[in-house]
Amino acid sequence: MTLRLYSSLGRQVREFVPLTPGRVAIYVCGVTPYDVTHLGHAFSYVQFDALRRYLTFLGNDVRYVQNVTDIDDDMIMVSKRQGGRPIAEIRDENDAIFRNDLDRLNVLRPTVYPFATDHIPQIIEATRTIIEAGRAYVVDGDVFFEAATFPGYGQLNGVTIEELAKRENPESKREYKKRGPLDFLLWQQVDPGDPSWESPWGPGRPGWSIECTAMSMAHLGQQIDIHGGGHDLVFPHHENEIAQAESVSGKQPFCGWWMHNGMLQLDGVKMSKSLGNLVLARHLMAEFEPDQLRLYLLSQHYRTDANYHNGDLLALGGRFERLRAAAAKASSDSPSPAVGAAARAALDEDFDTPAALHVLDEVATRVLAGTGAPGEPEALRDMLAVLGFAFAGAKGPATGHLSPSL
Ligand SMILES: [Zn+2]
Repeated sequence: MTLRLYSSLGRQVREFVPLTPGRVAIYVCGVTPYDVTHLGHAFSYVQFDALRRYLTFLGNDVRYVQNVTDIDDDMIMVSKRQGGRPIAEIRDENDAIFRNDLDRLNVLRPTVYPFATDHIPQIIEATRTIIEAGRAYVVDGDVFFEAATFPGYGQLNGVTIEELAKRENPESKREYKKRGPLDFLLWQQVDPGDPSWESPWGPGRPGWSIECTAMSMAHLGQQIDIHGGGHDLVFPHHENEIAQAESVSGKQPFCGWWMHNGMLQLDGVKMSKSLGNLVLARHLMAEFEPDQLRLYLLSQHYRTDANYHNGDLLALGGRFERLRAAAAKASSDSPSPAVGAAARAALDEDFDTPAALHVLDEVATRVLAGTGAPGEPEALRDMLAVLGFAFAGAKGPATGHLSPSL
């Protein structure tokens, strides 16, 4: 079996072949630490953690970069609301809570964890290159990427640029200055008193999407194997990232596999602070073990829109205890190759963690009934460790392993 993964670009499952055999470069869009993070974030980062572990298990040297968007409209808004509190302080406070949540969930730390504000020179350089390539223009201190100059703008969304222009664009700003409706800011003027940096176009700050392009190029090179993020980032953020990166490097494709996780809803409603329906990972972990939360998150396929109901974790208790009790029966015997092969077959088909866990549930039932074949508890424990469960001995922050590599 070989690993096959779905890419949003092309909308199909393809055999996964990294650019350099044995090495995998992953970039996953990180959080904007202006507020608390919720269960939807945990869903995304646990899924990519498990994928990263599986790629390592398959023999790859995985380099995983996840950024922090520490300058944007939301950060500035919160800073103003808190009486001009420094943005770095707000960032550090929220980021520490977020990282503590992920540590408890045994999510491996990123190989590189870059802050956007540490990459202003790279952002300015990328913007300059795009202007020189004839794909961006300057209007009174603002620099816009001109979407219509990039052949294939709309490819990630699978539509033409005309169709894309009809969609509601959450990033629309300064419309009166733009040549086209899909043009987006690479560099922007700021309001007096807002954080700003010197640039060839006057003092200002970066646009959102160019930050990720500059950081992925700085730490992973001009082309990457996997780009991850929530499905809500496909337009415009990731469409913009392709246009920017390929304009800077002249190389196609910027990314081989675009992997987007589904949205986690609460009782069928999108979680949002304004609706007051945020479920926080740390509240759940006050009541349940982090591994039980990991089991819940991985029992959903990463691409589905999962629907969380209060009580879902409680209902998972028996299943969790069975897996743990069966794994605890593992000795130093050789693991059963059949169990490993069955779990791998599920993971190889677009990283189907629910199907892999179903295989392991059946093994656990046999082991606890005393009808298991030799090596089954050992194979069960090993595959649970590949999926990152601390109780199965998976290396990670929850088991005292703080290194980003396995
Ligand atoms: Zn991003």
